[in-house]
Amino acid sequence: MLFCSPIGKRTRSNTMKVVLPVVGSIVLILVCISIAWLKFEGKKRNKAHRKLPSDGSSDLEFPLVRFEEIARATHNFSETCMIGHGGFGKVYKGTLCGQEIAVKRLSRDSQQGTNEFRNEVILIAKLQHKNLVRLLGCCDKGDEKLLIYEYLPNKSLDATLFDDSRKHLLDWGTRLTIIKGVAKGLLYLHEDSIHRDLKAGNVLLDAEMKPKIADFGMARIFSDNQENANTQHVVGTFGYMAPEYAMQGIISTKSDIYSFGVLLLEIVTGMKRSSTSHAMGFPSLIIYSWNMWKDGKAEELADSSIVDTCLLDEVLLCIHVALLCVQENPKDRPHMSSVVFTLENGSTTLPTPSRPAYFMGQSNELDQLTNNIQNSVNTLTLTGIEGR
Ligand code: ATP
Repeated sequence: MLFCSPIGKRTRSNTMKVVLPVVGSIVLILVCISIAWLKFEGKKRNKAHRKLPSDGSSDLEFPLVRFEEIARATHNFSETCMIGHGGFGKVYKGTLCGQEIAVKRLSRDSQQGTNEFRNEVILIAKLQHKNLVRLLGCCDKGDEKLLIYEYLPNKSLDATLFDDSRKHLLDWGTRLTIIKGVAKGLLYLHEDSIHRDLKAGNVLLDAEMKPKIADFGMARIFSDNQENANTQHVVGTFGYMAPEYAMQGIISTKSDIYSFGVLLLEIVTGMKRSSTSHAMGFPSLIIYSWNMWKDGKAEELADSSIVDTCLLDEVLLCIHVALLCVQENPKDRPHMSSVVFTLENGSTTLPTPSRPAYFMGQSNELDQLTNNIQNSVNTLTLTGIEGR
């Protein structure tokens, strides 16, 4: 049969003429059916993903993850998986689809938390930058509201910066990278929002100690004509809050820049903002730094653990920028764009900083300020009154 007759050959080619179009048509029909089915399933899945509440201004669709999957990823929110506890709930480490994640589980009894959650989801989903913590998904099922973030193995900056046994991990080069990264992340954020609670606890470090700003839950989208929104709800951390925000609830990008200045001083000095014991008896790090600067002793502010690795010019530049950021009048504080430019390129023409806020220098200043805050705003959320 291998050597077929000519008649046999004709018969086979006739058969092929019939079989090929039939098989081709069947394959084509199957492909069409598959595409239609996939489209139908996709639409069904999109409908299943509820639209997140968005103050009526956004139609954002956001990937929802099933609660059961998150529970499984965190061993049912076991204590051993818990890696932190913030103002709005506990944070767990887990593994989802082979990837390490951090899950923030909002406290059920927190009314404010619900709003913060919605803000955070909408904002972070839109904001993507290498110096902002990436939101990977969320879950909004009944009382349960959870956010899923990329996991950052080196935790928050304060955990290393203020720990005597770990601060050596932050040599000057690493600190400068962190300062510049936070500045760039904040510049990006300021294109259309405000953070409102920038602090060392909200800067997370990746495996290479590169920084990512976290916790946009308290940020607010603001429209162009509302740059200086007057808010009834002050949210922030004592010592990082600009005076006009703490006292009058006036929020703007300039209040974030104030917080950035405080953070910058903390990174350079390795001291907490309210550490009177280290600040030679001065009531705050800002006042101590200002006095050292005024007396021409700014270089002595550098953390003793970086003196061997730091470049004095860079340290002085950072302190100069920080003091410009914490000036009392918001208008005198620089924009984030010029902060980034100065940090990247240096400058010989920076203005002289004027006196920073809270300069009273009285020992009861902090009590007085707390009273003022409590009397001047309707709703107040303060976190970390004592430095962690
Ligand atoms: P607050 O809510 O009062 O501002 P906080 O910023 O410390 O405090 P959370 O943002 O809830 O609160 O975080 C608590 C802790 O959980 C952090 O300090 C950090 O150690 C850990 N954590 C949070 N997010 C992550 C993450 N993406 N990767 C690794 N650890 C994280």
